[in-house]
Amino acid sequence: MKGKLYVVSGPSGTGKGTLCKALLALRPQIQLSVSCATRQPRPGEVDGVHYYFITQEEFLRRRAEGDFLECAQINGGYWYGTPRGVVLEKLEQGESVLLEIENNGAQQVIKRYPQTVSVFILPPDRMALIQRLVDRGTEDLERLEKRIGKVPSELEAAKGYTCLVVNDQVAHATARLAQIFDGDLTVLPRERETLDRLVQEFADPQRSLALLRDYYQKSRMDFELEVRR
Ligand code: ADP
Ligand code: 5GP
Repeated sequence: MKGKLYVVSGPSGTGKGTLCKALLALRPQIQLSVSCATRQPRPGEVDGVHYYFITQEEFLRRRAEGDFLECAQINGGYWYGTPRGVVLEKLEQGESVLLEIENNGAQQVIKRYPQTVSVFILPPDRMALIQRLVDRGTEDLERLEKRIGKVPSELEAAKGYTCLVVNDQVAHATARLAQIFDGDLTVLPRERETLDRLVQEFADPQRSLALLRDYYQKSRMDFELEVRR
């Protein structure tokens, strides 16, 4: 392969989408892979731009034909996958290709293409991740609980990634991501320490769920008070 393959992953709500978008503004030459997904488009999402929205039937047929570089069924529901042909073609042309995908898919890519540069985006701490997920407002409590429940195993996997980026402030984290794409693959002591601290914070799943439920209820109450005003 002439070009370089990059994978950006991390827990849901950690800021992968936000940082990748900001990175592409800084480094427009990077090619972001558009995935296939079987979920419905959200308001504002455009077919072929955010995802190729396809049916589960088509997804499974293409999967059986080996059309995906990696794929995963997320939370036992919708399928997501990276179209193989487009990515390999761009790499053959010497382009840098970026996949923004969840950890199961990232592991498949790292295994198949060990030269992949993998980047795991860390939240600064547990409460920040909970607040970002809830405040984004795209999931109900049951789905939020599933997402928070996956974090300990995702953090375990983070140890095997090439680089770590702490998403404290968007500008700062984007600059760090750009450095990685420019070839600086060192892991800073602060990044390792943040991962170790997060592993400890998330080691008690019941406490993480209690914090999530408290924050979710509080934000619902604040919202209702706002509506009544
Ligand atoms: P992911 O793609 O990892 O699921 P998003 O990019 O959707 O995460 O970010 C989750 C939420 O957190 C969004 O509402 C986003 O605006 C917010 N967010 C992202 N980065 C930061 C940051 N550094 N500080 C505060 N909020 C952030
Ligand atoms: P959403 O439905 O919120 O857009 O995305 C849900 C999750 O799917 C996110 O964590 C996102 O990174 C991940 N994702 C998006 N595209 C792909 C893909 O092609 N493969 C895999 N494995 N995950 C993906």
